[in-house]
Amino acid sequence: MKYYILFGPPGAGKGTQAGALAQKYNLCHLSTGALLRAEIAAGTSLGKQAKELIDKGNLVGDDVVEGMLESRFAQASGIEGFLLDGFPRTISQAEDLDRMLAKTSDKVEKVISIMIPDAMVAERIAHRAAIEGRADDASEETIKNRIATYHAKTEPLIEFYKAQGKYEEADGRGTIEEVHDAISAIMDK
Ligand code: ADP
Repeated sequence: MKYYILFGPPGAGKGTQAGALAQKYNLCHLSTGALLRAEIAAGTSLGKQAKELIDKGNLVGDDVVEGMLESRFAQASGIEGFLLDGFPRTISQAEDLDRMLAKTSDKVEKVISIMIPDAMVAERIAHRAAIEGRADDASEETIKNRIATYHAKTEPLIEFYKAQGKYEEADGRGTIEEVHDAISAIMDK
């Protein structure tokens, strides 16, 4: 199995890009945010725990997100691999991922970062709030906290994956098609 990571600040367009990429490269798209929102919608106890954290713009516990992913990894069939979106989000999650994959002699192939400036992050999230109605997109306070959390906890992953020679950057400021082509070019390299 091949494991690709779609990386970038909240609102960079990871979810938007993931569908077409997953189809093109025969990968299973796994978004931890979407999986958590599904748990919330289903009213599970996991969902109830996660909702409070998500609504404030804080991260959900490693055990919770990693448990959700590992059970999906184990179910893989008929695909080339996985396209991870929203995970890992911290250095400790990245280290846990490496340990998980080592069990099946797999590894992270590439980390593809969709880069947009902070001003665009806020703009895109506000736009998405109007369309998708996500609770964590509605409050300015929450959005600010998510951007701060990204810089403090997630951004250090750039150096982590650069050191492994796996980090690649795509310009996220273009149209959906332009960004798709930029990511495809990185995948095909
Ligand atoms: P965005 O890309 O806008 O940040 P996501 O859908 O990726 O949105 O995530 C929404 C929320 O779900 C995050 O703010 C966080 O609370 C929670 N979440 C998603 N992935 C993880 C993760 N890997 N670890 C911890 N919390 C997560």
